[in-house]
Amino acid sequence: MDPLVAALTAWIVLKTGLIPPDPPRVLLAPRKQMIEMTSGTADPHGLYLHPDRTIFLRNEFRPDDLLSKAVLLHELAHHVLKMNDVQAQCERALEGEAYRLELAWLREQGVDDPHAFLGINELAIVLRSACLD
Ligand SMILES: [Zn+2]
Repeated sequence: MDPLVAALTAWIVLKTGLIPPDPPRVLLAPRKQMIEMTSGTADPHGLYLHPDRTIFLRNEFRPDDLLSKAVLLHELAHHVLKMNDVQAQCERALEGEAYRLELAWLREQGVDDPHAFLGINELAIVLRSACLD
């Protein structure tokens, strides 16, 4: 896992110009536990807890699978943004930046339609990134 984390972090740093932080802890967890971690509000493939600097990935994570790697890159983007103290209007606004990096990375891997690959559209990303207050 360490070389993959380092490679994906290097890509994020290259694209954003941010400073590479120390790597996060990466833990695998059952899907049920990850749903519980969102208080049942989502069914995520990945989660990043900032104060703990910990990424949770589902047990099904495969380091050689493109979708798995895209999920890890998305969570690493959250880590890099947080560790660089990137400010946003609200916590959710950083979601859009993580998605933009994930989509750009998938395009570089040769995925023609990264939205379809992730099963998400721009509207969903905008809604997930919208500040609620
Ligand atoms: Zn996210």
